[in-house]
Amino acid sequence: MTKKFIGAHVSAAGGVENAPLNAAEIGANAFALFTKNQRQWKAKPLTEESIQKFKENCKAKGISPSHILPHDSYLINLGHPEEAGIEKSRAAFLDEMQRCQQLGLKLLNFHPGSHLNKITEEDCLKRVAESINWALSKTNGVTAVIENTAGQGSNVGYRFEHLAAIIEKVDDRSRVGVCIDTCHGWAAGYDFLSEEGYEDTWKLFDDIVGLNMLKGIHLNDAKKERGSKVDRHASLGEGYLQEVTFARMMKDPRFDDIPIILETPQPDLWPKEIEWLNKEAGQ
Ligand SMILES: [Zn+2]
Ligand SMILES: [Zn+2]
Repeated sequence: MTKKFIGAHVSAAGGVENAPLNAAEIGANAFALFTKNQRQWKAKPLTEESIQKFKENCKAKGISPSHILPHDSYLINLGHPEEAGIEKSRAAFLDEMQRCQQLGLKLLNFHPGSHLNKITEEDCLKRVAESINWALSKTNGVTAVIENTAGQGSNVGYRFEHLAAIIEKVDDRSRVGVCIDTCHGWAAGYDFLSEEGYEDTWKLFDDIVGLNMLKGIHLNDAKKERGSKVDRHASLGEGYLQEVTFARMMKDPRFDDIPIILETPQPDLWPKEIEWLNKEAGQ
């Protein structure tokens, strides 16, 4: 029986309907995508045809919406310290939530935000929670999935306590969750590599955030040392986390039935990485 749902952040060039096809092409039974150009604020609405084809292609390839983890635009900062900045970000985030809703998707993954050295981390986290509340009140069925960060620049979300602080202020807890990126966690100082560190890190996560909040995993090796706060992904086995970390995760039932997404830098290796992960998972 399939317990691990493994894929990559695939291209949606030419239309979102191509993403499930690209996922199937690399042997994935899960995937991530951008539902619009991630470098632009505005996007044309999805056409009815594109929406229908997306749903048909997911079905044809046997990929369930619960294993699809769309990612929002990198321009969005839901913790923006200034009025104009936060308004623009919230409007763009709402548009992304609505696109997910149209596509029948259940999750939307995003980086919490940045204080830009103008407000405290605490105030920034509060603004992120307010942004989530606002967007959730205007949509249905889509869960806001907060990703942990490496702590680069003025990004918040690099400690489990940050994720918990946001969740604590969200009104509808049934529609908020988190995605843990292994590279970001390592860069932020969490040990996934040693056997003891791995157990301690996930125990800490459960104590502070709660495993029930875990809606997805970004599976990336890390190019920089632990605690560097530098976000540089490596292909599996080519960074500090080594194959042993990912093999261990594939045998860990805590990661059953959630999308496990590669954002590793060499797409030509994805088929091999996915094949190896499935083998380690015993499926
Ligand atoms: Zn990530
Ligand atoms: Zn990253």
